[in-house]
Amino acid sequence: MEKILVIGGGLMGSSVAWKLAEQGEKVLLLEQQGKKYRNGSSLGSARISRSLGPKKDVFSFVHNRTVKEVESLIHFLNKDKPAKKHKMEDIYSTSPVSYIYTRDQYAAINKLRYKKQRRDYRRASGNSAFRKFGVTLEPNQVLVRENRKYSGTINPVELIKKLRLGIDKKGGKISFNTKVTSLIKKDDFFELETLNIKTNKTKTIQVKKVVVAAGAYTVALLKDFAPYMNRVITPKRVFVSHFKIADERYKRLSEAEKKSILAAQPVFSQIGKEYFSLIEKIDKNGSPIIKAGGHQIRRNIIDINTVWDIEPRKKEVKWIRKQFRKYFEMLEIYLKKKEIKLVEGYNCVYSETRNQVPLVTNIQNRYGSLDRNIVLIGGMSGVGAKGCLAYGWIGANLILGKQGEDTKIYRKAAKAFGNPSVRLYTRRPRRGRLF
Ligand SMILES: Cc1cc2nc3c(=O)[nH]c(=O)nc-3n(C[C@H](O)[C@H](O)[C@H](O)COP(=O)(O)OP(=O)(O)OC[C@H]3O[C@@H](n4cnc5c(N)ncnc54)[C@H](O)[C@@H]3O)c2cc1C
Repeated sequence: MEKILVIGGGLMGSSVAWKLAEQGEKVLLLEQQGKKYRNGSSLGSARISRSLGPKKDVFSFVHNRTVKEVESLIHFLNKDKPAKKHKMEDIYSTSPVSYIYTRDQYAAINKLRYKKQRRDYRRASGNSAFRKFGVTLEPNQVLVRENRKYSGTINPVELIKKLRLGIDKKGGKISFNTKVTSLIKKDDFFELETLNIKTNKTKTIQVKKVVVAAGAYTVALLKDFAPYMNRVITPKRVFVSHFKIADERYKRLSEAEKKSILAAQPVFSQIGKEYFSLIEKIDKNGSPIIKAGGHQIRRNIIDINTVWDIEPRKKEVKWIRKQFRKYFEMLEIYLKKKEIKLVEGYNCVYSETRNQVPLVTNIQNRYGSLDRNIVLIGGMSGVGAKGCLAYGWIGANLILGKQGEDTKIYRKAAKAFGNPSVRLYTRRPRRGRLF
């Protein structure tokens, strides 16, 4: 019998499996996709990674811890003296995140601000916003820019690759093309049915401990063990576009303009509907391919298996293109519609909880009794990537029955991400997530 089984090899499952393997645990990771990660919430090569927050903010904590964990993973992988050294820069780009608020929003957030963080960001409004950051603001707007190393982007696909390498080197096992089709509890062990997607063969696995990190498929996976999960986690369709400036136009930009485009990404604007953009990659001409979308534009999903292939709606692409153009105007770079090329547009999925706070927790069975041999890491919404290794670390501690770090902030984070039965009935305010 395997000791610990992890279901799902996205950012969360790979992180928790690595944290278990690192400690010498016998871990088996099951992933329904092949080796190439093709669809799931962790798809792509960039996610905004930011750490500013109010006093004792758990989201800053998970970001900072993830940076440390990535450092230690890189150190471990380099011990074998690989031909190509692993680097932090393979995972993180430092390009400090900008936030745009109305003055009222800023005033509300400022009250919660962690004073000691003052040196960690700069802020401007009016003319000084253009002098400092090269961004033209409306009179009622404020721009805040982080001033920290590894504030910028984190690369999910590259991190998943390195985590898998680490798991393998530590003796953990990964089984690809293996879909878990049922999960039930029998006496003191779990019994799982798996289907090999390639051979169509089924198999029964018995295991003492399970970590569920199946992203958008979590609810379906837990339908027998914890059917109430469909009220706790809801997958939502979100749409992202990758744009680039048409080659001809990009060539005509001055070096200063090109520099200002790079410096102004990633951005997270809270004016009207939330809008974000960040550099996904740089194309062969040196021109940035920019991923853009709206964090709050989320739609319900009829069929989770086909959502990835649905054509994006024209209306959605239009809205994002408009925001994209508007942001360039704020940089005093004026683009005609035809000068903004859609490279790619696709649907992705956020798994959200009611209050948008992720879950890393032991869960109750269908009869309401808490089972310490199962951990759920899910409902990561639009904030999972930057803190993935911290969620994995907390999840590993929970499944091993360890107390975790003896600090106030660890306890605060473990509590914030815990106990779905409470989450079911309460709605916490969204404090502290804006910054
Ligand atoms: C468009 C978009 C933008 C985002 N932007 C940001 C951002 O800027 N900053 C940030 O921090 N976060 C961001 N996020 C959130 C972050 O990317 C997610 O929280 C994170 O990737 C979730 O990882 P996961 O492992 O939970 O899910 P997934 O990556 O979906 O992993 C789940 C895995 O489980 C597998 N699986 C499912 N069911 C089964 C089964 N039955 N058997 C076997 N395997 C199974 C799936 O194939 C998949 O590989 C964004 C997310 C999206 C969608």
